[in-house]
Amino acid sequence: MKEIVILSGKGGVGKSSIVASLGVLYARKYKMVLADTDVDAPNLNLVLGAKLRDSEEIAASSKAFIDYAKCIGCMMCKDVCQFSSIIGVDQPIIISYSCEGCGACTFTCPEDAIEIKEVVNGRLNIFDTENMLLVAGELHIGGTSSGHIVDIVKRRARQEAENSRAEMILTDGPPGIGCPVIASVKGADYVVLATEPTPAALNDLKRVVEVVKHFKTPLGIALNRSDIHPESNRAIKQFAQDNDFPILSEIPYDKSMPMAVANAQPVVSAYPSAPASLALRKLAGVLSERINELS
Ligand code: SF4
Ligand code: SF4
Repeated sequence: MKEIVILSGKGGVGKSSIVASLGVLYARKYKMVLADTDVDAPNLNLVLGAKLRDSEEIAASSKAFIDYAKCIGCMMCKDVCQFSSIIGVDQPIIISYSCEGCGACTFTCPEDAIEIKEVVNGRLNIFDTENMLLVAGELHIGGTSSGHIVDIVKRRARQEAENSRAEMILTDGPPGIGCPVIASVKGADYVVLATEPTPAALNDLKRVVEVVKHFKTPLGIALNRSDIHPESNRAIKQFAQDNDFPILSEIPYDKSMPMAVANAQPVVSAYPSAPASLALRKLAGVLSERINELS
């Protein structure tokens, strides 16, 4: 079984649309499980028009709680907190949303008045599409520890893939370069970096490349809306060439893509002969070859 992760560095480049179309195309050939680890803004289910089958709360975050019956107001806990999560003058108050659950305050407290407890910080949702199962994580508003939610999503996706003897897990990863991205790349066999020809996207592409290189995971680039800015298109290709990264496919700007999203369908299903769909089919083929080379 192979695990493919699609990342983007920059948000808004069409990553989820690309994942949805690849999922549909691969499901015609392979037994598939999809995962959505963009836990801040999961939307792969919407792009696919998937139906919610199951949903459960996740307690993947730890927070400090004070037992005021024991507290003597010494405020030593406030001094030790590196996240400024404890305020107050003679009685400590924990600012829960910024508490990282590091536990430093518990070791400092002379009265053993602070306890670290797990708290609910998100949901794990299971969706069905016509022929694929989608495991998606969702961080609660203001929640922390999104990387832990990604770990839970990946574990569940692997379990579902094993149960159904799936040959591939295709993951819609998060944008950026933070913990959720690192957790998404960990253990992946191949990373596709979706980008678009703009200076901002190139800048973010370079940053996310550094994360992927750390894991030594093979990667390729999918250039979406490839014709919107020829100069940036050349800059991205130069960057790819300089670093020996393959450009897997160039997907032209095509209004069929946003129209398909508006209709909750992948473009390859809604408009199979649109230019974007043809390019996505090429991407699926080239990516398949790359993955087969890994075995
Ligand atoms: S657990 Fe860590 S972050 Fe939270 S209040 Fe204690 S010292 Fe601060
Ligand atoms: S260190 Fe312990 S006893 Fe002192 S203020 Fe904090 S919670 Fe209260």
